[in-house]
Amino acid sequence: MGQVTVRFLGCGDAFGSGGRFQTCFLVRSDTARFLIDCGASSLIAMNRFGVDPAEIDLILLSHLHGDHYGGLPFFLLDAQILRRRTRPLVIAGPPGLRKRLTDAMEVLFPDSSRTRSSFPLELIELRPERPQALDGITVTPYVVEHPSGDPPFALRIECGGKIIAYSGDTGWTDALVEAARDADLFIVEAYLFDKKTKLHMDLDTLTAHLGDLTARRMILTHLGADMLARASGLPYQCAEDGATVVVG
Ligand SMILES: [Zn+2]
Ligand SMILES: [Zn+2]
Repeated sequence: MGQVTVRFLGCGDAFGSGGRFQTCFLVRSDTARFLIDCGASSLIAMNRFGVDPAEIDLILLSHLHGDHYGGLPFFLLDAQILRRRTRPLVIAGPPGLRKRLTDAMEVLFPDSSRTRSSFPLELIELRPERPQALDGITVTPYVVEHPSGDPPFALRIECGGKIIAYSGDTGWTDALVEAARDADLFIVEAYLFDKKTKLHMDLDTLTAHLGDLTARRMILTHLGADMLARASGLPYQCAEDGATVVVG
């Protein structure tokens, strides 16, 4: 089996800390090419890093906050109007996805959700802990701790013989242990250094739970300003916009 790679098109927080783009990861294998999350700045990031949106067949969403799914209205209108896309697109995410996507489109571009699409668009609302086979991959969502209007997920993705786990945004929850069990790569948000909140992970708490995690490799993402200021001195690998990692 060939290589599986993850390219961080955006690994920033919601607020543009460090000038980073909002969450958007591009995963490539022999059989799949998909995005994990599509934050509001994702189309800009794709253009910046020379990634053709027409190559994307699938978008997986961890949760329905603007910095994780707010790029979809731009992505879909670009596909429809500029690119005249015909290739099918699948978007899979939390229950509530259909309504929240329609709402976002209507707020930002009125009537856009009612325009007839030039390409087949399939929306799939994932069910917790239920493996879902999609084009060349299987994704299993786990409910985490991050109120966002609809259930927030960590995602466990089997792709090209590798396991990629992604925490989404969340405070510590034992669900992460399952989601990242024996994963080849665990991408975990570490928004804060040691300040505690129920909504987000801090590095102090993550470090305290390292013994519970069996992932073979871990990369930190979604760093806030406090984390960015310390990133170069941390004993952990941190994501960088534009960087590619080989999984496994
Ligand atoms: Zn976020
Ligand atoms: Zn969030």
